[in-house]
Amino acid sequence: AWKDALLVYLAAPETHNEVVFFDDSVVVVRDKYPKAKLHLLVVPRTPMPFGVASLTKEHVPLLQHMASVVDGLAVAEDVRLGFHAVPSMRQLHLHVISTDLMSPALKKKEHWNSFTTSFFKPLVWVLDSLENADMIHIDEADEAAKLKRPLACHKCHTDFSTLPKLKQHLEKYHPPSDSKRRLT
Ligand code: 5GP
Repeated sequence: AWKDALLVYLAAPETHNEVVFFDDSVVVVRDKYPKAKLHLLVVPRTPMPFGVASLTKEHVPLLQHMASVVDGLAVAEDVRLGFHAVPSMRQLHLHVISTDLMSPALKKKEHWNSFTTSFFKPLVWVLDSLENADMIHIDEADEAAKLKRPLACHKCHTDFSTLPKLKQHLEKYHPPSDSKRRLT
């Protein structure tokens, strides 16, 4: 099933060109439909078929390892690290995505909102939450509603009626060189 497509990288990561790093516990792969100039996925190699709502304190060392692996890649861009509240792909995957959010594959309002609203759960927020509670509660209806919100620029909060208009605005006012801050 397409929902299990991320599993193909796990058994023999060295055989896939899209894999940029792997070790015994994780694989880092280029997102096949990148939603920004740099978009990677960090995927655990053991079966973890559920999303962020399935994480508990026992996963904290794995999550910390994912963060240190990303640090080790020393990516040039400003990136954010986080999970979608309600993922579409089954195996757990951490998004590593540059803050330009400029890409031809970003085609839908839902794509935009999944990275610019609190539908995106930053890794640091996940780690913090697991320190203070046993698990992360996700209200699926609340989260789904976030994807339907009107489009707004993630840098200056200007509203837009269409994605093409928002993209024109990004190119004019927030080109990738504008992304100097590191947001994790
Ligand atoms: P999510 O489930 O968190 O919403 O996102 C799943 C991500 O996986 C999307 O960003 C999508 O572009 C990416 N994706 C979907 N299929 C494949 C695939 O076969 N290979 C890779 N590398 N990425 C994929």
